[in-house]
Amino acid sequence: MTAVPRQGSAACERCGRTLRNATYELRTTDRRVPYCLPCAMRFPPMLRRSLVVCLVVGTLLTAINQGNFILAGEFQAAMAWKIPMTYAVPFVVTTVGGLLNARAQISTVAELPQ
Ligand SMILES: [Zn+2]
Repeated sequence: MTAVPRQGSAACERCGRTLRNATYELRTTDRRVPYCLPCAMRFPPMLRRSLVVCLVVGTLLTAINQGNFILAGEFQAAMAWKIPMTYAVPFVVTTVGGLLNARAQISTVAELPQ
């Protein structure tokens, strides 16, 4: 793997916006491509991974925290916001973690050989 740093500014691979300071270097099947933040937040592979984590962790936490009430058939009003929040937190944490992990400076943005 030979990384060739780009000089100057780069452009978002998806929307073409000029990337000035930070960029998000997301991995496709064969290379890493620079994205701006709005496009990085909508990167389908990252959203799929966040959704899987959300479903697995959210279900486990819901079972741990509310399982006894659900099994007993005692649905409380607070569960209407607690259960969605239990799913939302792992989704947000995974997405933010993915974005922070993909963050790169323009001078370090490099493409893998194709
Ligand atoms: Zn973009």
